Amino acid sequence: MDFDDTRDEHEFRLLVRSYLESTFPRRPPGSGGGRIYHEGDEAAWIADAKATQLRLYEDGWAGITWPRQYGGRGGTSIQNSIWNQEVVDFDVNVGSFAMGIGMAGPTIMAHGTDDQKHRYLAPMLSGQEFWVQLFSEPGAGSDLANIGTKAVRDGDDFVITGQKVWTSSAQFGDFGILLARTNPDAPKHRGITYFLVDMSSPGIDIRPLVQITGARHFSEVFLDDVRVPRSAVLGEVDGGWGVAMTTLAYERGLIGGGGAGSFKWPELERLAEATGGGSDPLMRQRLAKAYTNFEIMKFLRYRIQTALSKGERPGTESSVMKLFIAQHLAEVTNLALSMDGADALLDGADGRDRGLWVRQWLQAVSVRIAGGSDEVQRNVLGERVLGLPAEPRVDKDVPFNQQNKSRP
Ligand SMILES: Cc1cc2nc3c(=O)[nH]c(=O)nc-3n(C[C@H](O)[C@H](O)[C@H](O)COP(=O)(O)OP(=O)(O)OC[C@H]3O[C@@H](n4cnc5c(N)ncnc54)[C@H](O)[C@@H]3O)c2cc1C
Repeated sequence: MDFDDTRDEHEFRLLVRSYLESTFPRRPPGSGGGRIYHEGDEAAWIADAKATQLRLYEDGWAGITWPRQYGGRGGTSIQNSIWNQEVVDFDVNVGSFAMGIGMAGPTIMAHGTDDQKHRYLAPMLSGQEFWVQLFSEPGAGSDLANIGTKAVRDGDDFVITGQKVWTSSAQFGDFGILLARTNPDAPKHRGITYFLVDMSSPGIDIRPLVQITGARHFSEVFLDDVRVPRSAVLGEVDGGWGVAMTTLAYERGLIGGGGAGSFKWPELERLAEATGGGSDPLMRQRLAKAYTNFEIMKFLRYRIQTALSKGERPGTESSVMKLFIAQHLAEVTNLALSMDGADALLDGADGRDRGLWVRQWLQAVSVRIAGGSDEVQRNVLGERVLGLPAEPRVDKDVPFNQQNKSRP
């Protein structure tokens, strides 16, 4: 593939740049744009994100590939990729919409009824309704099909009971995408239903968890006889696993697309100059490795872009990228702290770049877990790219309620 922009792409890039330049400030160096959470006042940050998303929507820049009928721009995947490459340099606080606009929206477009698309998509894209993802549970993360949350039919409704965990920004959610078991007699992948849940429904109890960074980014969510209508089912009853796969593919694509590792080489170079790290031979070796990895990441992005330009959906490329970004982020932030020495322990006004590097280092751990852990990505690559034998899946065809007799 020719990596230079075509004439049309170049014109589109100029248009994007000119809009961003005239509307948003440039992102301060080292501030990690596109983040899905914030260590300060998260409520104020989400309110600011909603206002920013509304601005993009009104200006015709929200949802580059979304159909115009839902308020999107109706553009191509390549245009979306150009937008992502340019926006990272500006302070455009909309990363928290990843669960909604990045994951729930495309899933509703792929599997929703016309009524669901009309009801949910435009308010989601304009930032007026904030969406969260209620998939993971204490016993179901990597093995997501193991969910124990139940949804029982009651007349025209379903009644949902169970517990979710790790729910990002749950306390700000207007709606949630939720997986629940509707048929425990079926094997675990086949008895799951995908719901669109109003987070203000009676019976939902949200308890934020404090992270090592001090942020209260994710929560435990308890569901106690939460009543939802039949119209809240996305796709078929008991057919939720396939719908969830759509969401997870978009999630991997988002993280693997570079959202998590959005700071750039010049920021590390600037730090090396400021700390004198660039004159230490051992640090120089690590800097050289980091530079090489920034370049590799660029070529991995090109590979994803090539798939997009051919109208393909990137598959295993996203797993490679996700794994690479997670490791790269850990190494680069570790190097940043090494160069800063003991000063790296300082946070807030006393810390370099307001303590940002140390927080990025702490946060790097979560990138190795979220959206499929490093080990799970390696399994995907082992099986789908290297053709290694599949992991034994002994419970695949066993009815869910016969798998663990201790389950209530
Ligand atoms: C910052 C952050 C935000 C998140 N936000 C959300 C959210 O909004 N909504 C949501 O639903 N979830 C969310 N998650 C949850 C995330 O999807 C899970 O943490 C992830 O899927 C891993 O599941 P787990 O934590 O249960 O770990 P487990 O699955 O219990 O894994 C524990 C360890 O075992 C390893 N392991 C597990 N299975 C295998 C295997 N087959 N082979 C080799 N090693 C294996 C894992 O790699 C890991 O090291 C978030 C997580 C993070 C870190």
